[in-house]
Amino acid sequence: MTYRREEHVLIPESDLEGMSVDTLAVRAGQIRTGQLEHSDAIFPTSSFVYGSAAQAAARFGGEEPGNIYSRFTNPTVQAFESRIAAMEGGERAVATSSGMAAILATCMALLKAGDHVICSRGVFGTTNVLFQKYLAKFGVDTTFVGLTDMSQWQSAVRPETRMLFIETPTNPLCEVADMEALCGLARANDALFVVDNCFCTPVLQRPFEHGADIIIHSATKYLDGQGRCVGGVVVGPNKLMEEVYGFLRSAGPTLSPFNAWVFLKGLETLPIRMRAHCDNALELATWLRGQGDVDQVFYAGLPDHPQHELAKRQQSGFGGVLSFTVKGGREEAWAFIDATRMISITANLGDVKTTITHPATTTHGRLSPEDKQQAGITENLVRVSVGIEAIEDLKTDLQRGFEALENYRQGTV
Ligand SMILES: *Cc1c(COP(=O)(O)O)cnc(C)c1O
Repeated sequence: MTYRREEHVLIPESDLEGMSVDTLAVRAGQIRTGQLEHSDAIFPTSSFVYGSAAQAAARFGGEEPGNIYSRFTNPTVQAFESRIAAMEGGERAVATSSGMAAILATCMALLKAGDHVICSRGVFGTTNVLFQKYLAKFGVDTTFVGLTDMSQWQSAVRPETRMLFIETPTNPLCEVADMEALCGLARANDALFVVDNCFCTPVLQRPFEHGADIIIHSATKYLDGQGRCVGGVVVGPNKLMEEVYGFLRSAGPTLSPFNAWVFLKGLETLPIRMRAHCDNALELATWLRGQGDVDQVFYAGLPDHPQHELAKRQQSGFGGVLSFTVKGGREEAWAFIDATRMISITANLGDVKTTITHPATTTHGRLSPEDKQQAGITENLVRVSVGIEAIEDLKTDLQRGFEALENYRQGTV
């Protein structure tokens, strides 16, 4: 009798070669044990046993592959790493305890004192702090530039520039970077081009196809998609990932097997969720633009968005996050937010539940007034991470915000 495959193995990558990201999201990387379970197994164990003292020695010596200790080898975590690597089209992934740990591990492994980083001003606020406050202490200097202004990138380059770091599209204003242009600049200066692909996920955008050397994810957002766990992952070529893995093994910002398992379940539905997020966000952006109390809507799916054509070239969908300005200032923005009843007031994003937040006093609250102005984070700006609820119900809830604005203006509130 012949078996389709040996027990206890990954589905061989060669069997899935050339398959679409939708299929890889469901199938890639699974480890099936001798129990022949259909769903992914979870391995909540800190260590692993050996058949003999000699085998233990071979494992520790690196002569025999296999599990040793869950700080750096856990089968559930490896299944998650293999799946996301396949989806991004990268050679190897290293999972971490959070998105920030993924960025830290990348920098600790691949930069050294004296190196220089150029980073987009529009990155996640904590990424900004990590570079500006902590990496600076260890002699890594960072210059922040406008994401879409190539002349700023070019003039920031120094002989010691070793990394270009971006997010595209940005949070909350949905600016889109020209990845091929930035890749060209990185190549010409022997620097690594790192893309935080959190907002699009590999379902909507595959940065390796546009010249990225390394892709970073906060798995906390869309990869989980249901707001359950914190985690992250770095994807890239074997040679670079060996260094990132080495840092993880030595420093320990490890993803727990339970969280890896939740992310594996999340990835299975990622393609259909991303399509639902995109459909709802585009419809909502268009609707918001027709509202008398809205000044401006920021969403790359709108045809008059300055990088609409670029977004269409790089992305297969425009994503689930949009923002808009209401007529007025902070009080009007807060009145709008407070009037919603169903939508959650939280700064998290990438959840199937729609969330609403005021960037100027939450996610971007630490920026100085000048930095806020430069980044376009105005007091009347509202961000929505559009979930997968029925679009008519989202409009009904946001309509409560517009009614509140009307009442506010008439002085009845
Ligand atoms: C949330 C986020 C991070 C940080 O991820 P954590 O999992 O919260 O550590 C990094 N980049 C982007 C774009 C994010 O949205």
